[in-house]
Amino acid sequence: MFTGAGISTESGIPDFRGPDGVWRRVDPSEFTLERYLSDVTTRRAAWRRRTRSGALTAAPNRGHEAVVRLWRSGRMVGCVTQNIDGLHAAAGLPSEALVEMHGNARTTTCLECGASLPTIQVAARVETGEDDPPCERCGGVLKVDVVYFGEMLPAGAVARAFEWSARADAVLAVGSTLGVYPAASLPLDVVRAGHPMVIVNRGPTDLDHLATVIVDGSSGDVLPELVDRITD
Ligand code: NAD
Repeated sequence: MFTGAGISTESGIPDFRGPDGVWRRVDPSEFTLERYLSDVTTRRAAWRRRTRSGALTAAPNRGHEAVVRLWRSGRMVGCVTQNIDGLHAAAGLPSEALVEMHGNARTTTCLECGASLPTIQVAARVETGEDDPPCERCGGVLKVDVVYFGEMLPAGAVARAFEWSARADAVLAVGSTLGVYPAASLPLDVVRAGHPMVIVNRGPTDLDHLATVIVDGSSGDVLPELVDRITD
């Protein structure tokens, strides 16, 4: 299973490239690590956005729940997600079944001393007027645990994801334009090994020409029924 931002839109979190996508409202160059470290205005804007977006308190939807059911049925090698919203885990998908390729915004780390804390605690400080809250232990810069442009993907997570794609005999790609690399090379690897790819997405993806089946629809509608049929 490979998921992207689309699986979480029904939880109220906008995707990046869909019609209401984040890229239509913010400048991607604000998401470089260099800019975040060097520019306090960028950090203030990032915390303000993160605090107001509602993503930290969003709840999983029927699509995320269907993924958990598929895992429990024993038919899924694992779920690789590009999402940083933590909603697969919140739905009950255990860590051994989940790779979050781009990190998880629900936790935050101090870039100086490595202290880790729930992002919701930092958001509470932002709401009471600290617009760029420093680490309470050492005063260092705090950053959510997501991979910014210019950062390496977490090596262990990447290795596990590619190990799963080598073991899979089919891939279900959900809610992703399949255009962000290296993440999209995971479903591509499964296809290149001669296995089928099923795409569930609202609208076209970059890999439609390689799909065995395309279901153009909402994951919250399609996945529960699909999982019922697979696990029957
Ligand atoms: P994307 O924005 O490029 O594509 C999302 C796709 O999902 C679009 O084609 C859209 O039409 C479709 N879609 C929207 N709602 C849907 C629904 N309910 N059911 C089925 N399809 C739906 O997303 P991407 O391919 O994941 O790439 C975006 C990058 O942005 C990733 O790297 C990811 O880390 C990041 N991102 C994450 C979140 C999140 O964590 N929820 C949100 C925005 C962006």
